[in-house]
Amino acid sequence: MDGFESNDGVILVAATNRPDVLDPALLRPGRFDRRVVVGLPDVRGREEILRVHVKKVPVSDDTNLNVLARGTPGFSGADLANMVNEAALNAARMNRKQVTMYDFELAKDKVLMGAERKSMLLTEEEKRVTAYHEAGHALVSFRHVHSDPIHKVTIIPRGMALGVTIFLPGDRHNYTREYLEANLAIAYGGRVAEEIFLNQMSTGAGSDIESATDLARRMVCEYGMSRLGPLTFGKKEEQIFLGREIAQHRDFSEETARQIDLEVRRLIDEAYQSAHSIVESHADAMHRIAAALLERETIDAEEVRMLIEGLVLPPMRSNLATPSDTGGNVQQVLKPEGTRSGPNYPEGSPSPA
Ligand code: ZN
Repeated sequence: MDGFESNDGVILVAATNRPDVLDPALLRPGRFDRRVVVGLPDVRGREEILRVHVKKVPVSDDTNLNVLARGTPGFSGADLANMVNEAALNAARMNRKQVTMYDFELAKDKVLMGAERKSMLLTEEEKRVTAYHEAGHALVSFRHVHSDPIHKVTIIPRGMALGVTIFLPGDRHNYTREYLEANLAIAYGGRVAEEIFLNQMSTGAGSDIESATDLARRMVCEYGMSRLGPLTFGKKEEQIFLGREIAQHRDFSEETARQIDLEVRRLIDEAYQSAHSIVESHADAMHRIAAALLERETIDAEEVRMLIEGLVLPPMRSNLATPSDTGGNVQQVLKPEGTRSGPNYPEGSPSPA
């Protein structure tokens, strides 16, 4: 920073994702003294970012960037660039001269859910388990007013997951207790469905359980959303860049630790019971959703709604020239199963799929 006269007119811009650990000497007036926080883009921001990226590719007249922007909440600028790139690849595979809205839709799903692993063969039994598991997530989320809307439910393996229920989290910046409780219940929808309809437990629910437990603990220890009141328990020292484990500094008594455990357990028990009663009382809808998943592999939110209401689905759209992915080449932008599509979740919060 030294060596410049005050009238030299040099502007230095730098970026960091750890503003909390910067040396205060760097931030003194005359040095890096302005801060611009760059969050995830909102719907207008996404539209403008898309406008920049589509300049490089020929797009058809039916492409509506506003529609794409509205359908991609939680996408970062890099996700959007990736989506445009995937859409262009799709169009090239199909020998099209222009990128169409259909290419963008396929690309959006790929970025949201990870690439399909068509080479991965599942047994009929595994498919059945996955279908009921995902149907459980979908049904519970539909029955919870505070849940994010579903985007799609699929039993095509993507990334590390055998199936995924994808949500569109919307441009949220703040999360209510009701919303987090709904997420806890949705997380258990999968496990509960397996128990009720297949009379078994599988490892498939492992990441659901992990993220739900983590979320419940945060609700108690960080967000003050339990009977222990609005207090923070435990100070975290994150030193991830030094390659060390995150150290939890304990600043509460044994007795409080016990109460925290009890509150976490209570939140989880309530979520589990909520999921259980929803799934149990909608057995017919569960069978219909699972059957539709086994037949069609992917269903969207509207189809889930129709199945819950007992309506007959329109015939399957023929797989109109779906270009096949190079199987196995898993590109995972957002983690499926166990993580919902929203990178705009509260810092480090888990997210049930
Ligand atoms: Zn699950």
